[in-house]
Amino acid sequence: MSPEREFPFVFTPPMKKQLSPRVLKMLHDALRRFPELEGRKITVGCTAAHLGSALVPLNSRAAKLTIRLKVRRLTYNTIGHEFTHLLQGLSKSHSGRGKLKHDRRIPGGEKQCDIWTLARSSLFCDDAPTYLKLPRAVRGNWPLYARAVRRLCIAALEKRKSYRLYMRWLESRIKDLTRKPVIMRKDNGQLSLPF
Ligand SMILES: [Zn+2]
Repeated sequence: MSPEREFPFVFTPPMKKQLSPRVLKMLHDALRRFPELEGRKITVGCTAAHLGSALVPLNSRAAKLTIRLKVRRLTYNTIGHEFTHLLQGLSKSHSGRGKLKHDRRIPGGEKQCDIWTLARSSLFCDDAPTYLKLPRAVRGNWPLYARAVRRLCIAALEKRKSYRLYMRWLESRIKDLTRKPVIMRKDNGQLSLPF
């Protein structure tokens, strides 16, 4: 694949071997939802671990951004989660250049990372988040609940402005989803929740 098509990603040699047009497209699709990362080089490596990882050196002036992904069964949710980790890192970054503006900063933590990722775009709803507490019915029927959970994540970020326990609030609202009846929508034949 040509370097132009790969820009702004830089792939490690092991990742380069596994890279497919599908993975490259997913990375570009995901990156478009992260205007904060525009113009930054992102090194992409691979990992054998189930989940990916992300790295932002706190004191580096260049703020070299690195994520690692498992290519097999890669989901947008995983890519979005790792990009959000990069923003969490940049939120704490000591370097003036890399630092995000106050209103764009994202608090650290895995659960926070899941919430901000889902809230960002429905693109990242293709798989259930890993760290957010989900009732078994929600995790097991994720496509059915994804949109409703995303909406609650967006509401939780709003709630956070005035309520410190917004994550607890969110998880209890997600739990409530299972108490509401799931209805079949006739227009597109897809199952959806009554919201
Ligand atoms: Zn994570």
